[in-house]
Amino acid sequence: MIKASERNPAQARLQQQIDAGDYWLQRIAAGETLRITDLEGNQAADTLFFNADDTAERYSMSETLRGQHNVFLTAGSVLRSNLDRPMLTITADTCGRHDTLGGACSCESNTVRYDLEKRHMHSCRDSWMLAVAAHPESGLTRRDITHNINFFMNVPVTHDGGLTFADGISAPGKYVEMVAQMNILVLISNCPQLNNPCNGYNPTPIAVSVW
Ligand SMILES: [Zn+2]
Repeated sequence: MIKASERNPAQARLQQQIDAGDYWLQRIAAGETLRITDLEGNQAADTLFFNADDTAERYSMSETLRGQHNVFLTAGSVLRSNLDRPMLTITADTCGRHDTLGGACSCESNTVRYDLEKRHMHSCRDSWMLAVAAHPESGLTRRDITHNINFFMNVPVTHDGGLTFADGISAPGKYVEMVAQMNILVLISNCPQLNNPCNGYNPTPIAVSVW
């Protein structure tokens, strides 16, 4: 569902650009709003959410999809935790659809999907591993890296129930906005993947804003 936001970027308390292949680890407080903007279009933002006060509670794809009876995320979606509690609600979305089924890229998936020699290409899982290793104060470990959301990524479900990676439906300046319902630790990998159309074969920067 396409729904624009009234928020003024000039009033955001934090605005940052995340280059392709970089990660972003940040705490946002309950009641704050996070916007992720696809600056140049066709970019996937692979995102994990944790309860900032107890990181054993984290985003759950299965609770979220079961709760909303739909496999795609958009305005109105409530992002639920493994304890089946609401973590964030998507309040605006100018892209219209986001994936949470496709998972994140890793050296293993690079090898299986593309080629043995793609194993050492940079992946989202590598970026998350780097983030948790560089930030022990977050309390996160590699065991906390589980299912994620791929904002802006287009993973249509076929008639037979299959999943395909398709060319993106996002475009320059499209954004998704969500309000936190608990204190949240956000971990984004701005996807470096070069081997499938989720980034248009050309990973580009995204921006984050917090109000
Ligand atoms: Zn990726």
